[in-house]
Amino acid sequence: MTKAPAPSQIDWKNLGFEYMDLPKRFLAHWKDGKWDDGELTEDSTLHISEGATALHYGQADFEGLKAYRTKDNHIQLFRPDQNAKRMQNSCERLLMPTFPVDKFIDAVKSVVKANEDYVPPYGTGGTLYIRPLMIGVGGTIGVHAAPEYILTIFAMPVGAYYKGGVKPTNFTTSYYDRAAPHGTGQSKVGGNYGSSLLPGDQAHKAGYSDVVYLDPATHTKIEEAGSANFFGITKDNKFVTPKSDSILPSVTKRSLLFLAKDRLGLDTEEGDVFIDDLDRFKEAGAMGTAAVIAPIGGIEYKDQLHVFYSETEVGPVTQKLYDTLTGIQFGDVEAPEGWIYQVD
Ligand SMILES: *Cc1c(COP(=O)(O)O)cnc(C)c1O
Repeated sequence: MTKAPAPSQIDWKNLGFEYMDLPKRFLAHWKDGKWDDGELTEDSTLHISEGATALHYGQADFEGLKAYRTKDNHIQLFRPDQNAKRMQNSCERLLMPTFPVDKFIDAVKSVVKANEDYVPPYGTGGTLYIRPLMIGVGGTIGVHAAPEYILTIFAMPVGAYYKGGVKPTNFTTSYYDRAAPHGTGQSKVGGNYGSSLLPGDQAHKAGYSDVVYLDPATHTKIEEAGSANFFGITKDNKFVTPKSDSILPSVTKRSLLFLAKDRLGLDTEEGDVFIDDLDRFKEAGAMGTAAVIAPIGGIEYKDQLHVFYSETEVGPVTQKLYDTLTGIQFGDVEAPEGWIYQVD
């Protein structure tokens, strides 16, 4: 694996969302009922048994969060405690050991600090994307929990999702489901994404940016996109997002529910969003750490494209939500208490 270029060689404005092998990552092992202290390492290759449960039975979960460089050149994290807790929930669902919240935050900070020259400059829109990953390892062949676990936290600079302004794209629906009604949709576990590759690829080939999955039991309600939750703004200015046990509880969603009410003065609702009742919305979008907000131009369902605000222009409420959230993340807008963690 080739190592990342030196920071001075990176064209910050043209970064995409690609893996990069940075100098340092955090690595901890769980064995005999406990975690070791963990350490920063240079080796980006994991050495694991062919019998590792992560490889055969999907005993693997992950997280995704970002570090942001502020105007006055500090580095900060956005709600890493939420990622730490969600990872604990994912671990419990897969019978994996949990990692303490405070240690998770400290480990994330140590990885950011150890690679701080790779946090993109303020103003480029770029961020340092952080990927915590836990896998079951050790030799196993039966379907049961692994005897040992690895937690690794690595990072890479990623570019602004939108170069030259937030732009809507079209989404489609799919024959396939993302998660079963009482399955693992609530957890950020590897298996959910393996099964999304085929419908995601079909959507891309048909010219859509992603799939909006319907509820697996009745196929009448919107659940979420492949890696982002859905929201709509009703004609009377209510921020609505689906409530379901089979969607992944997005930190971005939780944050926007708060900001829509507290900063924009909108009513908010978590409830059913029927796919044949999209006329109630004047704007719609997908929300998650990677894109922050991806405005949805239209959704294709049964060969009809339902357009919300516009296929080419972002709606005013969506733009305001985007500006408020990114303003907080980059330190330009005052954050609600407890949302920002300083790295340096
Ligand atoms: C990670 C993820 C999201 C977004 O969650 P954030 O915490 O906002 O990044 C939404 N849906 C799915 C399926 C995801 O994997």
